[in-house]
Amino acid sequence: MNKQLTQQIEDICVARGVRLTAQRRRVYEIICENRRACSAYELLEQLKQSEPQAKPPTVYRALDFLLEQGFIHRVESTNSFISCCTFGEHKHFSHLLICESCGSVVELQDDNLIALLNRNVEKHGFEFSSHIIESHGICKACSSSAT
Ligand SMILES: [Zn+2]
Ligand SMILES: [Zn+2]
Repeated sequence: MNKQLTQQIEDICVARGVRLTAQRRRVYEIICENRRACSAYELLEQLKQSEPQAKPPTVYRALDFLLEQGFIHRVESTNSFISCCTFGEHKHFSHLLICESCGSVVELQDDNLIALLNRNVEKHGFEFSSHIIESHGICKACSSSAT
């Protein structure tokens, strides 16, 4: 586990005056440890290995907190979760490349795309809370191993 990551989110939580409980931190660690996006159910199963008494609401509350703080993203189309590649941002655009074969998710932050999206949103007088663009397909590793 990348200790620096958890240390960083701990620092952000202290600065924001919000509480990173042991369970919230553990759920975040599990999400980071998984290379692919995980459903709440899968996260619960993994959490139970260290906390056998964990219940679905434990995971949902932790996920809500982590989403709200911008530490993780929900992959809407598959209702699963990944850690964010930049944190400390309450809202930002991210572009996710989702492999339908292995489930890996790569988050891209393209300044040009973000600028374009911001312009389009502003043109409509729309106030955004979050934006996730999802591209589905087959990742490089999967497509090269298939041949
Ligand atoms: Zn992100
Ligand atoms: Zn793949």
